[in-house]
Amino acid sequence: MDEILGALAEVALPLPVFQTFTYAFDESSADRVSVGSRVVVPVRNKRQIGICVGPGEEKALRRAPKKILSAPDAEPAVGPRLLELCRWISEYYVVPLGVVLRTALPVLLTGAENPHPTRKTRRVVKLTPPAEDQSLLERDKLFGRAKQQRAAYEMLESLGGESTVEHLQSQLEFSPSVLAALARRGLVVIGEEEVERDPFLTRALQAPAGVTPTKAQSDSIDTIRSGRPGEVFLLHGVTGSGKTLVYIEVLRRVVLEEGKTAIVLVPEIALTPQTVDRFRAVFGDSIAVLHSALSDGERYDAWLALKRGDKKIAVGARSAIFAPLENLGAIIVDEEHESSYKQGETPRYHAREVAVVRAGLEGAVTILGSATPSLESWSNAQAGKFTLLQLPERVAGNRMPEVEVVDLRRGERPGDALTGIVEYDSIVREPLDAALMSRLARGEQSILLLNRRGYSSFLQCGDCGAVATCPHCSITLTHHRAPERLICHYCLHRDTPPERCAECGGQTIKQRGVGTQQLERVLGERFPDARIARMDVDTTSGKWAHTRILDRVAAGEIDILLGTQMIAKGLDFPKVTLVGVVDADVGINLPDFRASERAFQLIAQVAGRAGRGPKGGAVIIQTRVPKHHAVVHAITHDYESFAKEEIESRESPPYPPHLRLANIIFSGTVEAATADLAIGAKDWLERLIEQRAPGKIVLVGAAPCAIEKIKNRFRWHLVMKSDTPAELTRVGRYFVERFETPSAAQLRITLDRDPVSLL
Ligand code: ADP
Ligand code: ZN
Repeated sequence: MDEILGALAEVALPLPVFQTFTYAFDESSADRVSVGSRVVVPVRNKRQIGICVGPGEEKALRRAPKKILSAPDAEPAVGPRLLELCRWISEYYVVPLGVVLRTALPVLLTGAENPHPTRKTRRVVKLTPPAEDQSLLERDKLFGRAKQQRAAYEMLESLGGESTVEHLQSQLEFSPSVLAALARRGLVVIGEEEVERDPFLTRALQAPAGVTPTKAQSDSIDTIRSGRPGEVFLLHGVTGSGKTLVYIEVLRRVVLEEGKTAIVLVPEIALTPQTVDRFRAVFGDSIAVLHSALSDGERYDAWLALKRGDKKIAVGARSAIFAPLENLGAIIVDEEHESSYKQGETPRYHAREVAVVRAGLEGAVTILGSATPSLESWSNAQAGKFTLLQLPERVAGNRMPEVEVVDLRRGERPGDALTGIVEYDSIVREPLDAALMSRLARGEQSILLLNRRGYSSFLQCGDCGAVATCPHCSITLTHHRAPERLICHYCLHRDTPPERCAECGGQTIKQRGVGTQQLERVLGERFPDARIARMDVDTTSGKWAHTRILDRVAAGEIDILLGTQMIAKGLDFPKVTLVGVVDADVGINLPDFRASERAFQLIAQVAGRAGRGPKGGAVIIQTRVPKHHAVVHAITHDYESFAKEEIESRESPPYPPHLRLANIIFSGTVEAATADLAIGAKDWLERLIEQRAPGKIVLVGAAPCAIEKIKNRFRWHLVMKSDTPAELTRVGRYFVERFETPSAAQLRITLDRDPVSLL
C-alpha cells in the first residue's frame, strides 16, 4: 500500500481545466520525481510536459493511473516558494495552476524537453547614404510617378534607415518589385544578416560616476536597508530625483554584502536601456537581463544561470517576477504605475501584486518606485500598509521645469474644421514653435509627445459626417501614409482610403485628428535641417529599434524626438531642454475610470524628461481642457493634489482604490447570443451572491463593452465590485468552474481580476 502511494504523483498540466491529474511512476524515475519536477506524461496519446505538484492520492483514483513517461531533470524546476506563489496566482486570478506554471516557466513547459540555442539569418533592406544636398522637392522629381517607391523610401527613413524585408512586405505591404526597383536605382541595398545576438552582451558601459547620495536618497536607502522581511516601500520620487541610485544602493547591500538575490522589474526592456545599463555598470556579470528578443536557447541559459545561482539579479519586464532565484532579498518594481505590468491575456496577473506576494513568501523587501504612483499603491501607503519614502527634489540642484499651457481653443481657425486640411501652425502653436526654434538654434534637444499614431486619426465625410470604421471592430480606422492605408489598430484590418463616402456617396473626405506621421511631416517641412526621429509602434518593429533610436538621442544625433507614450518612460537625457505635449487631451475622455489617472501620469512623466541637466528646461502643454484636474496638477508637478482629488472622485460610484473589481467579459460571434449569455450570467451570479455572500458583492451591468466589437466578436461585460477580496476569489472561482457556456456562437467568458481598464 505504502509503495503505491509513494509511486503516484499529482501533475499540473497547461490545460484549461482546474483539476490536476494523477500519474504513476516506477523505481527508474523515483529519484527524479518530487514536488516541482518536470514530468513528461501522456495526454490523449500526446506527450505533454507538466509539473509534479504533490504526491498523488490513491483514493481519489477512478481508474488505473497512466504512467509518467520520463522525468527529464535531476533537480525540480520549481522551488517550493515559487510553486506556492503560482498557487496564489491560480487562486486569486482564477486560472488553472498548470496555466500559471506555463507562464512562470516559459521555455520549460512550451518548448522542447531540452531547449537548444538557435541562430537564424534574415533579409534586411538598408538605405544607401543620400546625397547631402538633396531636398524634398528634388526627391519628388526623382521618384516621379513611382509613388510606392517614394513611400517605401520614406518609410525606411522613418525606420532609422533600415528594416527587414519581412516587415516591409508582410506588415507594411510593399511589394517585392517596389523594393527591387529601389535596389536597382541604388537607393537601397538588400542583403542577408545574422539575427542579432543579445545586444546587452555587447553594449558599452560607462563606469558608474562616484556620486554622493543626497540626504533624501540616503534616508530612503537606510530605511529600506533596515526593513523587515516582507515590508513594502513606496518610493515616491519626483522625476529626476535619482530613484535608480536608491535601487542600486539597496541591491549593493542585499546582493554584494548579504549574498542574497534580487529581482528588478522595468516596464519594458527595449524602452529602458539606460536604466538597465546603470545596473549592469555596477553589478556586471551577476545580472541576467531577461527580454523578449532572447531566443528560446538564450532564455533557457539565463533561466539556468539564475536557478544555479551563477547570476544573482534578474532584470526584466513583467514575467521576470518568476525568475527562479533562491534566497531572495529584494524585489524592485520601477515605474510601478505602468499598466504594462498587467498581463493582457490569461493568466491576467499584475506583476506589482505578484511582487508583493512573492516578497512576502520569501521574506524579502519590495520597493515600488514612481514619480506618479498608482492610486492603489498611494492609498496603501496612506493606510500604512506600505512604508512611504519621498524624494521631493531633483538631484544636483536641478529644478523642476517651468510649464506653460497653450489653450488650443483659442485661435482655432474655422477654416480647418471645414476643409479638414491641417496646417503646421494649427498643430504646433506659436509658443511651441518659437521654443522649438530656439532649441534648434542653441543645439539643444526637444521631445514632442503626441499619443496618437498614424497620419490622421480618422476620415470623415464632409457632407453627412460618416466616419470610416472597421468592419470587424466597433472603432474608427486610422489613416496611415507611406503606404496610404486605413488601418484598424485592434485587428489590423487594412483598406484603401475611400474616394467617396460609403454612406452618402459624398466626395469631400476630410482628415481628422493629427497623428505622429503627420506631425513628423509638418515638422520636417518647417525645420528642414533638423534631425528628427519618430518613435511609435510603426517605427519600432525590430526588437531593438527603440534602443537604436534612444541611443541616437543619447549620442546627440537627434534634435527632435517625437512619439507616442513610448517616449515618456524614464528617459534621462540631460540635453533635453524642451518637452512639448502636442495634444494633451488624447485619451483624457475615454469612458474608463482610469482615464484621468493615465492622462495625468503621461503628462507628468513626459514633462519630467525636460530639464534634467544644468541648462534647465521648459514644458509646453497644448490642450483644449486646461481646467481638467489631470492637466492642472501636472502643470504644478503636484502629484499629491491630483491623487487626493482623483481618489475622492472615485468614492461615488465607488471604484478602486476604494474597493476591488473583477471584470467578466463575454464575447461571441452573434450579438444576441452574447447578450443573452451576459444577462444569464448576471441572473446566475445574483442568485449565487444572494445565497453565499449576501451584501458582499455588487454587480454592475450586464452591458455592452465601450468597444462593442473586436475582431468580429461582440463584447459584453459584467463588473463585480467588492471590498472583501476573498469573496471575489470565492465567487469568481465558483462562477468560472460551474457556470455553463453554451457551445454556440463561439461564446467565451474571461474573468479579469483588478482590470487596468474597463474598455
Ligand atoms: P528618476 O528615475 O528619479 O527620474 P534617475 O534615477 O534617472 O531619476 O536619475 C536622474 C539623474 O541623476 C541620473 O543621471 C543620475 O545619474 C543622476 N543622479 C542620481 N543621484 C545623484 C546624486 N546624488 N548626485 C548627482 N547626480 C545624481
Ligand atoms: Zn478591426
